[in-house]
Amino acid sequence: MQVFKFGGASVKDADSIRNVAHIVTQYKTSELVVVVSALGKTTNALTEVTQHFIDQTGQAFALLDKVKVAHQQILVTLFGTSDHPVFDDIANCFVEIEWILEEEPQDPYDYLHDQIVSTGEIVSSKILAAYCTHIGLPIKWIDARDYIFTDNTYQEAEVDWEKTENKIRRELPTLLDEQILITQGFIGSTSENFTTTLGREGSDYSAAIFAACLQADDVTIWKDVPGVLNADPKWFNPTELISEMSYTDAIELTYYGATVIHPKTIKPLQNKKITLNVRSFVHPEEPGTLIRTTNNGLCIPSFIFKVNQVFVRIQPRDFSFIVEDNLSHIFNLFHSHRIKINMMQNSAISFFVSIDDTGSNIDNLLEDLEKRYKVNVEKGLELITIRYYNQETIDRVLVNKEIIRELKDSYTCQLLVKNKTSTS
Ligand code: ASP
Ligand code: MG
Repeated sequence: MQVFKFGGASVKDADSIRNVAHIVTQYKTSELVVVVSALGKTTNALTEVTQHFIDQTGQAFALLDKVKVAHQQILVTLFGTSDHPVFDDIANCFVEIEWILEEEPQDPYDYLHDQIVSTGEIVSSKILAAYCTHIGLPIKWIDARDYIFTDNTYQEAEVDWEKTENKIRRELPTLLDEQILITQGFIGSTSENFTTTLGREGSDYSAAIFAACLQADDVTIWKDVPGVLNADPKWFNPTELISEMSYTDAIELTYYGATVIHPKTIKPLQNKKITLNVRSFVHPEEPGTLIRTTNNGLCIPSFIFKVNQVFVRIQPRDFSFIVEDNLSHIFNLFHSHRIKINMMQNSAISFFVSIDDTGSNIDNLLEDLEKRYKVNVEKGLELITIRYYNQETIDRVLVNKEIIRELKDSYTCQLLVKNKTSTS
């Protein structure tokens, strides 16, 4: 059996949804679970709705209306102005958000975010299921929240693997005998039945969860790029397609920030030796990239660029050494502010990190750090990671850049850089 994952870009408008349905049609005789993300940029739009609701700006309803209209237009393009039941179904999903918005925002942001934003995946999966059924495919829509169980860490929920695996194994194989299952990425539920989300871009991870629990033959992530490239084409030209890579290389690349696959996706697949295929929904006939057990290292150097980096230097105020006890205190602060470290290094009396500039929660972290340490901050930097580096690749990325910090091991080189200021 197979699991397919279609991200937001693959279902951004009516034509894209038709394209996805066309791809699914080619596999209609296989046992197939289709995991889909919210349409286009819906997750961002619903996150904005949540923020305006919390801040009580008075604009939450208007912003939600835009999302509703966009979905409505897609429905009209796909189904005409008919009285297809999907119109009411989608409208009712949005009514559930309106019920939340009508009250005062009393619950914490993370909780409200998940209750509101998850609707994006619910409606996209319902639209795709309705359209695939409309063109004659044998489809069953299932609610991922009935299968993926998590703790209550809203926005970054941890999966309860045992419970999830039991439920999926008990119920899905029989359903798969007869129908293609369409479900949502990104969402799960707590033991009290509240909706959770698995972290931004988490639909890949959902596909891996279903695949691991069902012992799938493979997972395919359908993307708007030809597969895993050796760099993001947004930052680098020309890029090369990597046709095969090991799980280890995939984990390393995602760890350092390659955004092509969600970082949590590989481990469950590697544990069960399930191949991950990353391929293009624009050119579905192309083979893309296969991630599987292989002894071949990456044949070409890969580059990962992270902009908007903040370099933080932390020093104990009394010039004591950086040792286990202050390191564990520092790590705890990063953990409690939910800030991920992209690069770290230490010397006798300093600890250095590079983190994403995410605005206010960094300021809160810095405030807490300053209570015990001397803290220096430099913003606006870029972090470049090269896997399978050599001097030529380093020289290539350093044109007009000045190195602030560098870190190398046998395979990976990380360079924290800033633009050279012209001296003329
Ligand atoms: N829709 C969610 C997001 O944009 C999940 C996903 O796309 O994977 O983060
Ligand atoms: Mg997305």
